[in-house]
This record gives sequence, C-alpha cells and structure tokens, in this order.
Amino acid sequence: MPLQVIANPDQKPPKIAIPINQGGNHGGSDQRDTYGINSPRVMERKPVVVNQNSAKSLLPAQKPGREGRKCLVLDLDETLVHSSFQPVDKYDFLIPVEIDGNTYQVYVAKRPHVDEFLKEMGKVYEVVVFTASLSKYADPVLDLLDIHRVVDFRLFREHCTDVDGTYVKDLSLLARPLNRICIVDNSPIAYSFHPENAIAIQSWFEDTRDSELLKLIPMLQTLASQACIYEHLAAHSTESKRSQPQHGR
Ligand SMILES: [Mg+2]
Repeated sequence: MPLQVIANPDQKPPKIAIPINQGGNHGGSDQRDTYGINSPRVMERKPVVVNQNSAKSLLPAQKPGREGRKCLVLDLDETLVHSSFQPVDKYDFLIPVEIDGNTYQVYVAKRPHVDEFLKEMGKVYEVVVFTASLSKYADPVLDLLDIHRVVDFRLFREHCTDVDGTYVKDLSLLARPLNRICIVDNSPIAYSFHPENAIAIQSWFEDTRDSELLKLIPMLQTLASQACIYEHLAAHSTESKRSQPQHGR
C-alpha cells in the first residue's frame, strides 16, 4: 500500500500515515493516535488471509517444557508498547521499517513494568504475542522487547480475521482448548469473538506512572493454576468495572 498523506480534519499539519500497525482494531475509539498510524481511515484494506485451510491451526504444538500450560495471548501496540513515526523525547527502541522502498524510523516506547510482566508470565504460561501489526514492524520490536525470551510464538496481521475492515484475533484457531486461553488486549474488537477469554487493559501511550501490567501479574499467576479460566476472568472483569467505572474499552 503506498504511503499516504492524510488531510488532518483538525487543521493540524498533515498526517503521514504508514499502515504498519493495528489499523482499525481501535475501532476509532483511541483519541491519542496523534500521527495517524492507527487510524481506521488509512488501514490496509488488502485481503487478510487467516488460514488458507480452515482446518489448519495457527500454532504448532506447545514447545517442550511448556506442555500443559495455559496459553496467554498478548497484544503488542498500546498493550506492551507504544510506537510512533514522529520523534518522541522518550523511547526505548528505534526500528527502521522499509515501506515502498523508503525506510522510516519507528520510535518504540516500552510500557512501564513490561519486562517484569513478561518475565513472570513466562514462568507459568505458554506466551503468544498476537498483533494486528505487520511483521516487518512487530518482529524486530519483539526481538528487542522479549529480553527474557519467554514469547513462544508470534502471530501477526496475516493471522487475524478481517471483519469489515477490522482485525479480529480468532482464538479458536490457536489449536489450544479455548478454556485454557486468555488474551490481554487494549482493543475489544480484537477479542470480540471470545470476550469471555479476555482481560481488557487500558491503552497505553506515554504515562510513565502506568502500572496496569504490574497489577495484572498476581491475577494472571492465580489464573494460571485454575482448572477453568472463565470463572476467574469473570470475577476479575466484575472487579475491574467496580473499581474503574470509566474503563469501558
Ligand atoms: Mg493494541
């Protein structure tokens, strides 16, 4: 898809939109998409191949040492990191991404406590990062982000299901029992096929005081030992809504 310059309805300088990451998964609800890279207006509309053979699963068998563990599916953008094409004061990685013969620098900031979160999750879960972003961006990000080497598998945009231009992560294609899969994602659209398997997390952009990942650690450690995830997740969801009445995404 060619680089697009999108007119800014807010009369700010034009946005340069390079659709490498999540496209419409935010459902237009994120107001912090300063640079337009997540805008549904510029999302890539190419057909998304989920699984060319519907009987084919997206994941192989669990790796040695991970057998029998529950599968924790983690989103990337605005869940574990936030990325921008525009220079920012604080970032952790600078990722060159080639698009249509041009190389762009993507500034990637790590969400607070992401290192500890991944380390702890890697002790008790099979960890899968499932992103609606393109692998040319997400793969090098994960190479740098996964310092403890706990991510067993990576799934990208081509593994998502295209539903009216949004990218949905179909957990039923992971070749794991559904009652042993939990997804953490900032976008409800991403887990709209299986909301009962989801832990909603607030989108993260730059708040250095954010502690959402840290707060999830004990809950997910407990969940890992539950026979069935649903009751525990339902209780967590109820508690979250009670403590954060404004958190609806
Ligand atoms: Mg996301």
